Amino acid sequence: MTMDSAPTVPSLALEPTPEEVLLRKTVSEIVGRYGHACYMAASAQGEPMTDLWNELADAGFIGLNIPEEYGGGGAGLMELAIVLEEMSAGGCPELALVLSPGIVGSILVKHGTPEQRQRYLPAIAAGREKFVFALTEPNAGSNSHNVATTARRDGSDWVVQGSKYYISGVDHCDHFLLVARTGRDEQSGRGQLSLFIVEPDAPGLTREPIPTALRAPERQFTLFFDDVRIPATHVVGEIGHGLVPLFDGLNPERVLSAVICTGVGRYALAKATRYVKERNVWGVPIGAHQAVQHPLAAATMEIEAARGMTWRAAALYDAARPAGEAANMAKYLASKAGAHALDTAIQVHGGNGLADEYGLADLWGIVRLQQIAPVSTEMVLNHIAQHTLGLPRSY
Ligand SMILES: Cc1cc2nc3c(=O)[nH]c(=O)nc-3n(C[C@H](O)[C@H](O)[C@H](O)COP(=O)(O)OP(=O)(O)OC[C@H]3O[C@@H](n4cnc5c(N)ncnc54)[C@H](O)[C@@H]3O)c2cc1C
Repeated sequence: MTMDSAPTVPSLALEPTPEEVLLRKTVSEIVGRYGHACYMAASAQGEPMTDLWNELADAGFIGLNIPEEYGGGGAGLMELAIVLEEMSAGGCPELALVLSPGIVGSILVKHGTPEQRQRYLPAIAAGREKFVFALTEPNAGSNSHNVATTARRDGSDWVVQGSKYYISGVDHCDHFLLVARTGRDEQSGRGQLSLFIVEPDAPGLTREPIPTALRAPERQFTLFFDDVRIPATHVVGEIGHGLVPLFDGLNPERVLSAVICTGVGRYALAKATRYVKERNVWGVPIGAHQAVQHPLAAATMEIEAARGMTWRAAALYDAARPAGEAANMAKYLASKAGAHALDTAIQVHGGNGLADEYGLADLWGIVRLQQIAPVSTEMVLNHIAQHTLGLPRSY
């Protein structure tokens, strides 16, 4: 990021607009009717929060980043991020919003064919159909260039062979966006990637759940592709050039991952602040002790700093400016700040911090996840070291 690019960002206001304030308030009221207990009940069942999702969809909030001509709100990533931050601040950090309108909606808006946009965007925007996203592989992990799941052309179809792991929400999706290798760059030796729309019940596709410590409505799966046929009409973007559309989805993913953390951080700090005002074990509320106040104050500042970078990243993305660096920084800062805020809130609750009733420790998985996915802390540091500091690539 260069200093001289900062003043030219067009839409990053110092204060939220009245529309943003109203959006936050409305989402917060809707989410408040459900609350964290509903989120945990859905998580225990491995079921989506359908009623909340439908209510947000009816209010037009699921597809805020989708153009109006496809039934969306015609706003941007900023507005979608506000929705998810308020959901998270209400104790309901739904990954489905990241995956469907966030990643796949963003990609289809920019890179879908006219037919694909007509077919899928109205359904995504209305929350009627959900997409998930399948990139990670057992033997490629953080190195997307090593993706080994292969699609080969066969007549009018593509035929996919390989596997993916840790794919969230496949059991409740209508479609998913698959990243597969369709060739190899002779010069660099790297895989040439392409994107495909796949139906979860396609013949030859099987899945196995991966039990994890994440307590969220979305479960994770390993997917096995055994000659899964995909019609050529389901290719998104240009064959062999999938990295371009991919990054138009991955930057929103980073911003949305960041607001899960800032939102849960706000949720945890609000609970903690209430608690320490009421809990009294030495004749005064524990919040009167400096050793209880200071960590809460520090965590509050960390969350606010992360939010500042997050809104900057969203504004850059919405202004169609390079957003990779800011999105990486936002995700890094927010994932650390969110985890620290949650941990601080647990600490000031004493033993109650671990009780299900207090709804804190059960959010550890979703916040801790954001230091691993969608891109790990270490890979963000690699990116910043190389591209911001100009240091040699270290991997
Ligand atoms: C709950 C959950 C949900 C997920 N949902 C999805 C999903 O819906 N879709 C999807 O595609 N993926 C999903 N993922 C996968 C996630 O994006 C990956 O786990 C993540 O990208 C890291 O890949 P990996 O697990 O293979 O780790 P690895 O790549 O094996 O890395 C392991 C460790 O080594 C470090 N490391 C690796 N390479 C380097 C390097 N060059 N320099 C420094 N450090 C390095 C990493 O930072 C990490 O700490 C999910 C994961 C989880 C846990």
